Amino acid sequence: MNGELRKLSVLIIEDSEDDVLLILRALRNGGFDPNYLHIENPNDIKPALADKTWDVVLCDYNLPQFIGTEALRLLQDLNLDIPFIIVSGAIGEETAVNAMRSGAHDYIMKNNLARLAPVIERELREAKIRNSRRLALEDLRLAAKVFESSVEGIVITDAQTRILRVNQSFCEITGYSQEHVIGLKPDMLQSRRHNMDFFKGIWKSIKRHGYWQGEVWNRRKNGEIFPVWLSVSAVKNSNGQVSHYIGGFTDLSAQKSAEERIQHLTHYDALTDLPNRTLFHARFKQPMQNALRHNRRVALLHLDIDRFIKINDTLGHHIGDRLLQQVGRRLVASIHDRDFVGRFGGDEYAIACPDLDQSVEVSAIAQSIMNVFSEPFWVEGREIFLSPSIGIALFPEDTDDYDELLKFADTAVHHAKRQGGTYQFYHRGMNVDSANRLKMENALRRALDRQEFKLYYQPQVNLANGKIIGAEALLRWKPANQDMVYPEQFIPLLEETGLIISVGEWVLRAACYQLRALQNTVQSPIPISVNLSPMQFRHKDLVGMIESVLEETGIDAHWLELEITETSVMEEPEHALATLQQLYGMGIRLAVDDFGTGYSSLSYLKKFPLDVLKIDRSFVSDLGHDLDDAAIVDSIIAMAHRLNLKVIAEGIENQGQLDFLQNHECDIGQGFYYSKPMPSELLTHTLIEEQNPLIQHMTPQGHCA
Ligand code: C2E
Ligand code: MG
Ligand code: MG
Repeated sequence: MNGELRKLSVLIIEDSEDDVLLILRALRNGGFDPNYLHIENPNDIKPALADKTWDVVLCDYNLPQFIGTEALRLLQDLNLDIPFIIVSGAIGEETAVNAMRSGAHDYIMKNNLARLAPVIERELREAKIRNSRRLALEDLRLAAKVFESSVEGIVITDAQTRILRVNQSFCEITGYSQEHVIGLKPDMLQSRRHNMDFFKGIWKSIKRHGYWQGEVWNRRKNGEIFPVWLSVSAVKNSNGQVSHYIGGFTDLSAQKSAEERIQHLTHYDALTDLPNRTLFHARFKQPMQNALRHNRRVALLHLDIDRFIKINDTLGHHIGDRLLQQVGRRLVASIHDRDFVGRFGGDEYAIACPDLDQSVEVSAIAQSIMNVFSEPFWVEGREIFLSPSIGIALFPEDTDDYDELLKFADTAVHHAKRQGGTYQFYHRGMNVDSANRLKMENALRRALDRQEFKLYYQPQVNLANGKIIGAEALLRWKPANQDMVYPEQFIPLLEETGLIISVGEWVLRAACYQLRALQNTVQSPIPISVNLSPMQFRHKDLVGMIESVLEETGIDAHWLELEITETSVMEEPEHALATLQQLYGMGIRLAVDDFGTGYSSLSYLKKFPLDVLKIDRSFVSDLGHDLDDAAIVDSIIAMAHRLNLKVIAEGIENQGQLDFLQNHECDIGQGFYYSKPMPSELLTHTLIEEQNPLIQHMTPQGHCA
């Protein structure tokens, strides 16, 4: 019998020991095995309640200093839902009802204790139900909280996939309100980026596994397409039938766009959006394989814009950048469908022409690309003409190695550049040229020590009276046992190697010493002009170097004129201005050389402290034939005079040119018509002759009248 008794932990609040025994007996008789605590002092109630989990509290109602409802309140204060049953000897109907109202679960008269066990039985059952309801409610509250506060967009549909609920994140991500979507199907978010098979696959997986997850492109209310990571689960009811679907998704667009951006940046040139070197290489691989397999060829054209650096220097990088973008667009528009263009940085572009038949004239392709440049470019209202040089290397006949192919195209473009605005196919001989270049570079490195440099002087003549009023020092190189080499052939190499700094210093020193000698020999010495290359002009020690050379040679700065190219002045104008001001302050005369070949305007040059403008030979040479050049020269002279500059015309070769220049009040002339550049001894001799009172002025061809 005992084995069937149910354990019951019971708190008995009762002042009568006898009644406790009666209660216990009633419990045992009713099938319980009570594990009890009996208290009679009201002060013990609270600790007893807090101490242990009781199945039931039995409380006498009218204790001496205490009424049962106070025990009840304690129970409620502790938020305990334990059956509280009043067991009383004499409780009136009304008191009992009040007690029940206050929360007691039942009351039992002590003379009817047989009811006790069944009442407890019932109350325990009900407490259990209440408890599980409470837990379920808590669960629901928790679920609702998760649903609402989730950063994932959540959508709950019925078995027919009609939307029942969506959460706040869903609304935020998609832009739709809850009211808008309820009753609709989630395919309202479809972006049309996926085909039907894609969605069939998803549903197949959900049917089979009850679950699917993956990346999907959706569409927001505003039409924007965006990627999400989506998971869909089917919810089944107790019969095993699908009752709901729950979809949760996170918006991947931020992550995606960062990824895409990185992808893009690593493969495309940021300025023109053309494939960069890396992507170009990657794309070139396939055509190379095809060419080998099918006996075809791939042409690699390396395009470089002539003198682009000058544009950046004179018009500014923002215009240079706009031009590079336009060039990129024009190239893309001009090529065949299967061809592709890349930008390798700076003003370098590459064009791949895959799958060419042996008979295809690659020169025709090159020519059509050259034609892209025949129309002017327009930037900010300026009309700018550009000319490209193109080097072409062919796969596989020149080489079957991509890196070598690039190198060959690059070699060819350098050759094309030297010819100016043309295209050149690579050929083996070109490598010999680069070997020559290396030889020349080595020879130049030794030339100073070996005293192979020499200065020639070309007289500058006052056009009004024919008198020599100055001379330009021009560098010559005479390697042992070899012909004289002219500046055009080696100055660029001196610039590239940085040797121009030491050679330039030598030029200045040599010119100053020769000027000293001239001053000691002739009656009226003349000032000497010395050319400064852009690199020299930028060099931070320039002013110090000039000062010390003047001091060393004992030459007063007024006898020295420095010729600076337009590019030097336009490059970093602030720095140029500071340098020019220092030189000008020392008393040195300053001339702009080769004026008209750059992009500077006279009004711009006005800002700089200059004395002389040298009109480039190319304008002078066409005087008499080309009306445009005549107009240009005319206006240069007029404007220069307005800016208080003296004008020198370079390269006067005939009487016609001289007449024009004299008629247009050009101040000074220089050219073969008067004299070719000559060694210093001959200049001294010429000056002595000229200053002989019997001989009045310099006449054409250097002959003395
Ligand atoms: P540039 O400063 O414009 O010098 C004038 C050039 O025109 C000289 O060439 C001169 O020989 C040439 N020339 C003068 N009159 C005539 C003419 O009537 N007809 C023709 N066809 N040419 C004429 P060069 O001596 O070959 O020098 C070429 C360039 O090399 C110079 O142009 C200058 O830019 C540079 N250069 C020469 N010497 C030096 C130097 O010591 N330092 C630097 N940095 N550059 C130098
Ligand atoms: Mg010059
Ligand atoms: Mg010049």
